Amino acid sequence: MMLDYNSLLSALGLSGLCLLLTLVGTWLGRRESSFLLSWIVGLFLCVAGILSYAFFLWWPTTLAGALAMSLMQSGFCTLYGAAMQFRGGNFPMARIVCLASIASLSITAAFVAHYWGVGFILLNLGATVALLATAHQYWQGRAEAPGILASIALLYGAISLSFLLCAIALVQAGSWVMEGAPDGVSEKINIASCIVGMTGIGVLSLTAHQARITLQHRLEAMTDSLTGIFNRRALFEKYAQKRFKADMAVLVFDIDRFKSINDQHGHAAGDRVIRTFAKELQSAVGVDCVARLGGEEFAAIIEDAPPGRAEWIGERIRRQLQDRDITVNGETIRVTTSVGISYGTDGGMTFEALLKQADDALYSAKRMGRNRIEVASNGAPGASACNLA
Ligand code: GH3
Ligand code: MG
Ligand code: MG
Repeated sequence: MMLDYNSLLSALGLSGLCLLLTLVGTWLGRRESSFLLSWIVGLFLCVAGILSYAFFLWWPTTLAGALAMSLMQSGFCTLYGAAMQFRGGNFPMARIVCLASIASLSITAAFVAHYWGVGFILLNLGATVALLATAHQYWQGRAEAPGILASIALLYGAISLSFLLCAIALVQAGSWVMEGAPDGVSEKINIASCIVGMTGIGVLSLTAHQARITLQHRLEAMTDSLTGIFNRRALFEKYAQKRFKADMAVLVFDIDRFKSINDQHGHAAGDRVIRTFAKELQSAVGVDCVARLGGEEFAAIIEDAPPGRAEWIGERIRRQLQDRDITVNGETIRVTTSVGISYGTDGGMTFEALLKQADDALYSAKRMGRNRIEVASNGAPGASACNLA
């Protein structure tokens, strides 16, 4: 079936416009600067380019041709910027403006010099490079959402090749100077790939954007807002299904006489102490996961804990806090922590049971004078006292 070039171009323009409206609508629901917004700007430039191109087909002038090609090329460059933003977080404005300007100026120069064919070749080559670079960005970042991002990369790659095909056809035909627009087989393949590719990429980009928002919400729900480390819920989510064998241990920490710190120095100072301890825990060597259980209570998991190792690590952390000067309102204060430790068993224990044992050991440590560590012997919490303080 022979499809005529103008109908294909109209279909491309229309589907681009519809996609643009959908994406703008979605973006308006949550106005944040993200790769989706950059993607919308890129698509807008491409659609504006397509409309100008339709105008050029109807009335071929140097100005319309140069404008259409420049808009499209700037659109492709912006899509590349959006891909970089997707991976790196920031839109590389200077680089994109620079690339788009150089490409647009070269194309315009070719049109003004009446080498319209050269202008088309430059656009096709520019599009090939920009789209291939875009594909490369998504491909490199595909670990985040493999199916979606690899598909986006493949679609960009396919469109890129269809532009290369057009460039090759024009070069082979030696069409340096032209009176109107090229409309051979490669141009039709190109427009058809653009219709399919653009729609697919648009929908997939939207999906990737939503997936990111969902992930962000999930992370927020698992993060303690004061310290930035895992909260209790996250810790349970991570370890609830795990069986704790004898070579795994849980440590719980509770800062000693914390109420009096709040009373003497104020709540903000108390918060400062909590944040300081969280940082200390987070950077502790040998600990696999730390979380704030609530208030001034923390937990640490050691996934490779031969006998004695958890005590050794707990003692190191206890001493580090004891020796640490914390400055609040120009005053230096020192705080201490008690530690409860519990090892798993050969048969395996649930996280909940292990945490309960460590908690019981912690309260033994409190009863026995604080600023010390206490190990729960399995089944009999706090039975084996380990006073390293
Ligand atoms: P102990 O040695 O027995 O642990 O004595 P304690 O004073 O530390 O007793 P407890 O652990 O029961 O006290 C916890 C206090 O921590 C109670 C509460 O006012 C305070 N607290 C809980 N959450 C926060 C917080 O986010 N910030 C601050 N500044 N204080 C908190
Ligand atoms: Mg306390
Ligand atoms: Mg407490």
